[in-house]
Amino acid sequence: ALTIGIVGLPNVGKSTLFNALTKAEVLAANYPFATIEPNVGVVPLPDERLGKLAGVFGSEKLIPATVSFVDIAGIVKGASEGEGLGNKFLANIREADAICQVVRAFVDDDVIHVAGRVDPADDIEVIHTELMLADLQTLEKVIPRLEKEVKGKKADKAVLDAAVAAQKLLEEGVTLAKGAAKAGIEMEHLRELSLMTSKPFIFVFNVDEDGLSDEKLQTKMRELVAPADAIFLNAKLESELIELDAEEAAELLSSVGQEESGMDQLAKVGFHTLGLQTYLTAGPKESRAWTIRQGWTAPQAAGVIHTDFQRGFIKAEIVGFDDLMETGSMAEAKSKGKVRMEGKDYVMQDGDVVEFRFNV
Ligand code: GDP
Repeated sequence: ALTIGIVGLPNVGKSTLFNALTKAEVLAANYPFATIEPNVGVVPLPDERLGKLAGVFGSEKLIPATVSFVDIAGIVKGASEGEGLGNKFLANIREADAICQVVRAFVDDDVIHVAGRVDPADDIEVIHTELMLADLQTLEKVIPRLEKEVKGKKADKAVLDAAVAAQKLLEEGVTLAKGAAKAGIEMEHLRELSLMTSKPFIFVFNVDEDGLSDEKLQTKMRELVAPADAIFLNAKLESELIELDAEEAAELLSSVGQEESGMDQLAKVGFHTLGLQTYLTAGPKESRAWTIRQGWTAPQAAGVIHTDFQRGFIKAEIVGFDDLMETGSMAEAKSKGKVRMEGKDYVMQDGDVVEFRFNV
């Protein structure tokens, strides 16, 4: 499964948030492999449609999609030089498909800040610098090798050009996520290098309760990290919310002027950042969301349920979620002509409620 690595300076609230994330793993029974790794938190993706589907089909169980977060504790200044456990952290980050940086924006004199003061922009800079230095080290090793290979016709010149352009960008202090497209660098050429600053970034600002509704602060932080997504949450509040039942949690949230927990926001943004989407299946046993990549075809989507479904794919019977809700039942949706038969080239759309037909 695709994972999001959580990074941040010490004392920003990473562990507090991560503990809340692992407690959200209420689904362990449905996902037997989910809790094997202690540093992985598998979080349900909130999806209001599942409850409504279950209403229509009389489903016993709801099974949401999930998002996996990996705790990559302890990045510090000097990590790229292999100080302390630096190298191991960088190896972990390399394996992640997206990076979520927790940034401290709460003020609490009892909690020491590593740099002696709360300065989100500086904290972001520190981590970016370490990741850029690590990418530069990678490129310094790779470019001479590529040059030789291009001469010997063993590598594509376009790959070398992309590597050199990436190096130039990083030397200018720009991450690949921010600058590659503008500089005309085809990241596809550099995929094998797992360059860290090319991964999609999400920023979680750990704010005071006041900060949750501080538009001015939030606008400033959003501008700071654009085009990356920013989420504002209070890690301590999240750790309290996770202990409550749904009703109590909703009450506590509304008492601080919020509609949705930070965790739910993070799951949604993370899922989207990874380039994922869901489709839905429903029956008396369960209503379920299945995870696929954006742009996948119907047979690929069927393969997520079972490889036999993909191999023996005939067609997919599909009704859009909204159409199904409007008509109120599968039978009614059919009689109104809202149920479509799609073939093997069909590209899945968000909210498709699907039944696959296949040969065994
Ligand atoms: P980590 O080093 O980034 O993993 O940070 P921790 O999660 O261990 O938090 C460091 C300290 O800050 C702990 O004493 C937490 O209780 C405290 N802390 C974490 N989040 C918040 C917060 O949102 N507000 C306040 N006031 N303190 C927090």
